[in-house]
Amino acid sequence: MTTAQFEPLPDLAAAEPSTGTLVMKFGGTSVADPEKITGVARRLVEAQAGGNRVVAVLSAMGHTTDDLVRLAYEVSPRPKPRELDMLISVGERISCALAAMAIHDLGAEAISLTGSQAGIVTDTVHGRAKIVDVRARRIHEALDQDRIVLVAGFQGVSTDFDITTLGRGGSDTTAVALAAALGAGVCEIYTDVEGVFTADPRLVPTAQKLHAVSYEEMLEMAASGAKVLQVRSVEIARSHDVKLHVRPSFSSADGTWVREEDDRMLEKALISGVTHTREETLYRVTGTTASQLFAALAGASVNVDTIVQTGPEIVFSAPVDDRDATTDVLDGLGVEWSARDDLGKVSVIGAGMKSHPGVAAKAFAVLAEAGIEPEVVTTSPIKIACHIPSDDVDTAVVVLHKAFELDAPEAERAHA
Ligand code: ADP
Ligand code: ASP
Ligand code: MG
Repeated sequence: MTTAQFEPLPDLAAAEPSTGTLVMKFGGTSVADPEKITGVARRLVEAQAGGNRVVAVLSAMGHTTDDLVRLAYEVSPRPKPRELDMLISVGERISCALAAMAIHDLGAEAISLTGSQAGIVTDTVHGRAKIVDVRARRIHEALDQDRIVLVAGFQGVSTDFDITTLGRGGSDTTAVALAAALGAGVCEIYTDVEGVFTADPRLVPTAQKLHAVSYEEMLEMAASGAKVLQVRSVEIARSHDVKLHVRPSFSSADGTWVREEDDRMLEKALISGVTHTREETLYRVTGTTASQLFAALAGASVNVDTIVQTGPEIVFSAPVDDRDATTDVLDGLGVEWSARDDLGKVSVIGAGMKSHPGVAAKAFAVLAEAGIEPEVVTTSPIKIACHIPSDDVDTAVVVLHKAFELDAPEAERAHA
């Protein structure tokens, strides 16, 4: 049994398409210091001067979120999730307040809003809350007053009126949910690379920037480690028909379009990318049923990835960040279980593989030649994923990327 699990979606009211509204999201590196914040402010003012109603979603500056999380663990070994959210939501507010000041100095009007002030309503799951509604009245009012609206990413207010955060990388999701709710057809994601690449460009310098990827491919890539977009942001984009333009914050170059699949994407290349995670905990469980186990894990909001069942043994993987929550569930069920922390995962993804058999065979042959033996293999119609020793992950990405000819410029799928 193999599944790729994607979560249910917020039922955002269908917004009237509003071509004049531009949602622009800037990641942590893009707002890392005062000069960069001023640069972002300039870009927002230019976008407004170009005739757009501008909503910007900002991340926390540089490593602020990591620093805040570290601080929490210095005070407490298991910080209370509600208080952790109160703490780590602060980083994004700092960026927005500073950007609003910089915009004022450039002679334009701006207002910074917390997620809660912006009307981002979530469920009550701290640390990985899901957006259930966007009540954008205040944003509309500010836009009507010709203000640039700065929304703190990664956070909302729960239906119980507590501050929540949306999981790491969650500012992407804030931006796409706002684009959907405001009827903006496109959401621009400005980041520290030029777009979505055939592999993490930090690991594979010859990786090619993709001109376009389908929502399905991007979902699989994001879910299997390409952290350039949070998975949930892609789910919302797909279900609400928001095109994503992932582009560099350091230039005005075009980036990667994430949108509906079309034939031009398929004819160019079989494989769109190789993704990886260096750590993913693999659990082996006996003494329970799949339905009982996965209901309990879902109840604890554990992000289960791979699931394999052979006979009475159930094998599944989950992110390292979910280790405590998973352990609590397994202990609570009183089942026999073990976990491996020495594995990572490499995945080959491409919509073209639907109609081309032999991709799996080639992937296994390439890994075998490099002396790498997968521990668990899972597939979807457009993905082959192998759990392998963490130490072998970097090599696996490089050899697969080369074997599927993703170093070649044609991998870009450039077209008009
Ligand atoms: P931001 O702070 O802008 O949200 P992130 O750090 O979350 O940026 O995501 C961008 C990073 O994602 C890049 O620096 C890059 O190292 C990494 N990444 C991993 N896989 C890919 C990929 N396939 N394409 C582009 N970037 C990738
Ligand atoms: N600042 C948050 C994080 O580091 C959210 C984001 O950057 O998207 O995960
Ligand atoms: Mg990010």
